Amino acid sequence: MHDARDPLRGPLGRLTRARRLLDEAERVLVLTGAGISAESGVPTFRDEMEGLWSRFRPEELATPQAFARDPRLVWAWYEWRREQLRTCRPNAAHRALARRLAAAPEGRRLYTQNVDGLHDRAHDELACPDGDAEGARPRPLHGDIFRVRCSRCAWHDRGLDPVDASAVDTLPRCPRCEALVRPAVVWFGEALDPEVLEGAVEHAQNADACLVVGTSAVVQPAASLPRIVLQAGGAVVEVNPQPTPLSSMATVRIAGAAGAVLPELLD
Ligand code: NAD
Ligand code: ZN
Repeated sequence: MHDARDPLRGPLGRLTRARRLLDEAERVLVLTGAGISAESGVPTFRDEMEGLWSRFRPEELATPQAFARDPRLVWAWYEWRREQLRTCRPNAAHRALARRLAAAPEGRRLYTQNVDGLHDRAHDELACPDGDAEGARPRPLHGDIFRVRCSRCAWHDRGLDPVDASAVDTLPRCPRCEALVRPAVVWFGEALDPEVLEGAVEHAQNADACLVVGTSAVVQPAASLPRIVLQAGGAVVEVNPQPTPLSSMATVRIAGAAGAVLPELLD
């Protein structure tokens, strides 16, 4: 049924409707993907890689098998990505989310598929961050490219220092067991941290609303979170310039760039 006179059907009406859904919801799950960082200059996985790395596909480097075969190559690629990310800054979308979550953290949770740490940096850059509030801290589903962990034992750490990937001998080693240290990201074929995933599913089952930003909504299990919210009777607001498999199910779909839409939606 289409009514051209319905003020809630135009682009502005959709924004108003989405604002209302998010304002009235007691429990909100936010899910973000690579698209929210596109305006910070972070290439999405589907973007073409340049120069040196165009011969490799991420699916061939971001795996435990690739690391076992050639840890120097995998580290060189990650160090190249980390180098790029050091020059990127959170954009208006990361900042709007950080402000909103710090102002009203109760019942709200932000899960991201991104490993770029930009949500964290937006949170840290707030004038008066409420770091302890349950809902304020972003929760990475796929890890963080600036953290490292041991490839054998449970040791992990912040890994902000550049890694010298010129030879296997210069790669960092675990201070506990001497095994090679690896980026603390979830690779293809690896399981997500069960605690993080179970927390996300539980929150989705009880969420009144879900805000989905900049994800192609195809990578599982993250893509199932908005569907769980819908099945449990909650609303889904999708912000993405392109349609996704989720679009036809979304309660409100806003076709626009995250950096333009989120400040309007959340402030
Ligand atoms: P994706 O690359 O599959 O999809 C990106 C989505 O963002 C697309 O639907 C696109 O239309 C949308 N988009 C592009 N520009 C946008 C903008 N300005 N505003 C809003 N949306 C925009 O990303 P995904 O769904 O996150 O899945 C990719 C996988 O690769 C994930 O597992 C993720 O961990 C990983 N990855 C992470 C990063 C990062 O950390 N920044 C980057 C690339 C890939
Ligand atoms: Zn170890």
